[in-house]
Formats: sequence, C-alpha cells, structure tokens
Amino acid sequence: EDRRLYSPKMVRDILEKHNFKLSKSLGQNFLIDGNIVRSIVEKGGITEKDFILEIGPGIGTLTEELSIKAKYVVGIELDEALLPILKETLRERKNVEIIHGDILKIDLEELFHKEFKGESIKIVANLPYYITTPIIGRLLEEELNIQGIIVMIQKEVARRMIAKTNSKDYSALSIFVQYYTDPEIILNVPRSVFLPKPKVDSSVIRLNLKNQKMKVENKEIFFKVVRSAFNQRRKTIQNSLSSKELNISKEKIKEILTLCNIDPQKRAENLTAEDFAKISSLFPPI
Ligand code: SAM
Repeated sequence: EDRRLYSPKMVRDILEKHNFKLSKSLGQNFLIDGNIVRSIVEKGGITEKDFILEIGPGIGTLTEELSIKAKYVVGIELDEALLPILKETLRERKNVEIIHGDILKIDLEELFHKEFKGESIKIVANLPYYITTPIIGRLLEEELNIQGIIVMIQKEVARRMIAKTNSKDYSALSIFVQYYTDPEIILNVPRSVFLPKPKVDSSVIRLNLKNQKMKVENKEIFFKVVRSAFNQRRKTIQNSLSSKELNISKEKIKEILTLCNIDPQKRAENLTAEDFAKISSLFPPI
C-alpha cells in the first residue's frame, strides 16, 4: 500500500529525489490521498475495456490507478521536468504511454487516430483550474469520439455545470455542458488531499456524452443568444437580448418572444435550453 504513488511520503520522496519544484503557474497540486484516487476511478466507472486519455498526469498518481483498471492509458503532460519522473514512476505499467504536449494546442483528432485507432475513449483529468473551461469546451465542441469526461474541477464550477432552470447557479455554462452531456457530480473533494493545498474546494464531475442532442437550428447563434442573455442576467430577457452584440432591435425581440410564447419580462435564468433553441431559431443570421 505505501509503495503506491498516492502515499504522501512517496510523493514527497519522489519530488525530493528529482529536486522537482512545484509550479504554481502550471496549476501543480498533486493528489496525496489513496481513497480519493481510487474513488475517482471507481465512481468514474472505469473498466478493463476502457481506453483513457489523461490530461496532466503530474507524477503519475492517478495514471497508475487508471492503468491498473483500464485497458490502455495515454497521458499528456506539458511540464518537461515531469517526463523523467513519469518514466521512473510508471516503468512497470506496460499499458501506459506518456506524451509531452499542451492539451490546448495538440491536434486531438490526429492524436485520437494515432493512439486510439478509432476506439471510443474516456478522458480523465485533474486539471489546473484556469484551463478547465477552455479544455472542456474544446473537447465537447470538436465532437470527438468520446464517451465520457471525468474531471476534477472547482466546486462552484461543478455546481454551475449541473444547475437547472430557475436556480442561482444556472448559467450559460449549464446550458453548454447539458447540450452535449448528462453531467453528474460523483465526488466532493476537500482541499486537504492535495500537495500543496489549494485555496478552493473541488468536485469530480462525470460528463456522460449524449447520444441524442437537442435539436438546434444553428449552434453558433444558439450559444451566442444564450451567452448574451446570461451576460446581463438581471435584466429581462427582452432587454438582455437587445444588446449590441446580437445586432437586433427591441421590437424584433419582442416579436420573437411572442411567437415563442415566452413572457418578455422573464430573465435568462427562467428559460429552459429548449426556450433558447426556439428563440434562436427565429433569429436572423448574425
Ligand atoms: N494528475 C496529477 C495528480 O492528480 O496528482 C497532477 C494534477 S495537477 C492539478 C495538473 C497537471 O497538469 C500538472 O502536472 C501540470 O503540469 C499539467 N498541465 C498544466 N497545463 C497543462 C496543459 N496545458 N497540457 C497538459 N498538461 C498540463
């Protein structure tokens, strides 16, 4: 048990041995708790059939557990200084491949083709929080062959992702994530399980990709309308949609809302994704 990478002593020893300095700007908060590592993999529903892409393996703590449970694991790590460490810590794991790269820049379609040969995969990540939304955005928008995304994120962001209409956490992010996936919080994680300890609490969320997405006339206009509405979430929907960004008159908005049977005095948070789909389908090209 204490030979495993998640033991706090192991993590400290490895970092010391390699004289590794944790980088704040790369969001390096490493997991040091076996229960959490095992729970992520278990509640993430990882099985021996799974092909996994792990983003940011760090010193390989989660990678080790994933490689024990899954068929094949590819890890993408940006920090070059971690590569020799990963080579050592994962030397006995034969079903693991580590790639040096930036998940925000790498050609994912090419990577998927080369590493996974068309297999449907699961993404697992304990990410630096400032790149969480761009990465998830990219993974979902590119409509790659992904079954699910299991990711550690800031607790508040997880709440926004699962929020429903009429709640205070309901936002453009809720609609974006729920358009592509059925999200589920699988674990709440205290800050004490990381080295160093971050300033925020975290949750692990599992995003199960939908087989059938809601019908939307034009995705770009749909998300633009959603974002504009929530950008001014305290205004009535009639006013928030009459913004410069959308380039449409208040009269036209009123007409669209009437056609959709939506009270123009409502606010963004009172509208369902289906309401926004209806509204945006009547929008002129932007
Ligand atoms: N998975 C490890 C764990 O749980 O202990 C490390 C998690 S740490 C929060 C985030 C990791 O992502 C770091 O190892 C960091 O170097 C790496 N990273 C940061 N930005 C990255 C990027 N753009 N592409 C790939 N990896 C990145």
